[in-house]
Amino acid sequence: MTISIDSNSGFCFGVTRAIQAAESELRKGPLCCLGDIVHNGQEVKRLEQLGLQTIDYDDLRTLSSQSRVLLRAHGEPPSTYWIAQQRGCEIIDATCPVVKKLQERIRACYEQHRHDEALPPQIVIYGQPGHAEVIGLQGQTNNTAIVIEHLEQLERIDFTRPIYLFSQTTKSVEGFQALVEAIEARRRCREERPTFEYHDTICRNVANRVKELQAFARANDIVLFVGGTKSSNARVLYNHCKEANEQTWFVSSADEIPDQLFRAITPTTKIGICGATSTPLWLMEQCKDKIIEHGQQD
Ligand code: SF4
Repeated sequence: MTISIDSNSGFCFGVTRAIQAAESELRKGPLCCLGDIVHNGQEVKRLEQLGLQTIDYDDLRTLSSQSRVLLRAHGEPPSTYWIAQQRGCEIIDATCPVVKKLQERIRACYEQHRHDEALPPQIVIYGQPGHAEVIGLQGQTNNTAIVIEHLEQLERIDFTRPIYLFSQTTKSVEGFQALVEAIEARRRCREERPTFEYHDTICRNVANRVKELQAFARANDIVLFVGGTKSSNARVLYNHCKEANEQTWFVSSADEIPDQLFRAITPTTKIGICGATSTPLWLMEQCKDKIIEHGQQD
């Protein structure tokens, strides 16, 4: 049997940077992180063992002054910075630079058009409602942006007004293109066509993940997808793997590898281990070790 770990799986640049910031700041003293630093319970647990305290927005409002708060890669709305400053907290801003740039672009667009009273503009974000990054993006528009995740939600847009479309960084390029085409199609039916500007702001660190992952899944007989149960991205990527290779299993730790998978292994089986951008490499390595260990016992 052979076991390979997908070289494209694992933390993206933004998550790696936030985790390095947490490790480095923990060496200086107590540190809180607003929300899970990454959507992976195992990695959160590892950092909590180093002293990181995960807090929520209610906790933030009651923090004592001098507390140090790390803002994760997803970014935050302006209100979070304001609350932290009011509490006298020190902010360690680990917002991914790609997300930061997107926040700035949306804010600039909002500031530029907010006084267009004759035809009030609409900033539309193609993204998952309630996702931390999307909340941060909406905050740049004083929460006026419209969030659309599916084409069926197109009714939320008023086609008599200008539209400025952006995307959450982790959405699919195909989904974004389909949304652009659907908006264009609606506009073609109208005589008056106010401005429609769209900006493909999908992060290129993840844009090709589905294709790469499916090629990896097809190249192996058995696929073990390692991901956090709280990560919607992990679920989506797992489903894409399963589509490419029926023999795909989802686990969040090595202890969860099912007996059924071990039973399916023969001396010539090719096993591929992969994960989401929130899956740490060490967790995939632990899964690999577990499979090797199990093989040695047989
Ligand atoms: S997916 Fe891209 S934008 Fe999002 S945190 Fe990772 S590097 Fe940054």
